Amino acid sequence: MGALWHPFSDMGAVTQNGEFVVARGEGVYVWDTEGRRYLDATAGLWFANVGHGRQELADVAAKQMRDIAAYYTFGDVATPATVELAERLSSIAPMKDTKVFFTSGGSDSIDTALKLARRYWHEQGKPGKNIVIGRERAYHGTHVGGTALAGIPGNREGYGSLMPDAATVTWDSADALRAEISRIGADKIAAFFCEPVIGAGGVYPPPDGYLAEVRKVCRDNDILFVADEVITGYGRIGGAWFASTRFDLDPDMITTAKGLTSGYLPMGAVLIAGHIAEPFFKPGVWWRHGYTYSGHATSAAVALANLDIVEREDLLSSAARLESTLDKEVSTLAVHPAVAEVRSGFGAVAAVQMADAADVFPMIRLLRKHGVSGRAVGAGGLQISPALTMTDSEVSEMVAGFDEALRELQG
Ligand code: PMP
Repeated sequence: MGALWHPFSDMGAVTQNGEFVVARGEGVYVWDTEGRRYLDATAGLWFANVGHGRQELADVAAKQMRDIAAYYTFGDVATPATVELAERLSSIAPMKDTKVFFTSGGSDSIDTALKLARRYWHEQGKPGKNIVIGRERAYHGTHVGGTALAGIPGNREGYGSLMPDAATVTWDSADALRAEISRIGADKIAAFFCEPVIGAGGVYPPPDGYLAEVRKVCRDNDILFVADEVITGYGRIGGAWFASTRFDLDPDMITTAKGLTSGYLPMGAVLIAGHIAEPFFKPGVWWRHGYTYSGHATSAAVALANLDIVEREDLLSSAARLESTLDKEVSTLAVHPAVAEVRSGFGAVAAVQMADAADVFPMIRLLRKHGVSGRAVGAGGLQISPALTMTDSEVSEMVAGFDEALRELQG
């Protein structure tokens, strides 16, 4: 066994069973180092929205690297690609006069939004509004703040107290949010963080009317609404660039990453509504926050080219079609006794929930045997989040792979 320590892993088991080393990708397929081909059911880690192996993204990166690979954007410094990408994101964001703060990934975006929400209230003369509320099952990355804010208890074990002033409510009830607000006091609450569709926590689409209701509760109580669209952003939700657009959420901030570059290079962005940014754009106000790679030139150039592909190939419409195809096809897997339920129907994401969580890792091995690269999601689930380019016949091939794996699992 080599030196690589895998994130989110049982390294003892990996040491025993070996690694799955992916060497190449093309469209919805990846190949391991032995040359075996797999249909990628998850688009990497929900990120490869335009599919793998796009030469034009490699070419754009190479050109930008030859011009200047990276500079920095602290103070008054920028690169042309960074400036252009900010304008582009502002133009597709659903809020008015959106400002764009770049990060290196989703966890950074969450940390940025969290600090910005608190600092916003400080600037408004309300420094007591510091508490952030998240939901059970929510995943907001693994920085200290995001780990505290998220609703996955296992991820919080063994660190002592992570971040004061974080609270958690159930994931599916606006009444629970109302009750928590009256318990804490709205004058102490900075923001509510909400994934429009819970992703890594197990793919849980929102109950009917939930999003509109919690949005209103936040507005009524002067609590910022932060939509965590690290998964749902840039088209995965179908029909629009953001779930916030599709559901008319008009959030105060949107946290993003993944689909911004389709994962070709790491990059995240926080989209900030003009009225939240406004107090920070006055002369003399400093915000001492940012990352070495905020607005990284090559990442920004690749992001622009990636968004061009999404537009040119109308992948927002493809995602909407995929939503209904997945909903129809993946739900057929529910007939297997080993499957407890299938969750789908909201964007190009789904989960196959195993009746026995212990079957998840054997299933992942069986999926690979049947030509599908899959992964665990939530507690006892298998993730489905294909590239938005996936065709109907590729969906059928993916579902057939699941079907064969489930048959073999049940013997
Ligand atoms: N928020 C959400 C909703 C996510 O799904 C993720 C990553 N899966 C993150 C934040 C963290 O992003 P990253 O892993 O890029 O830090």
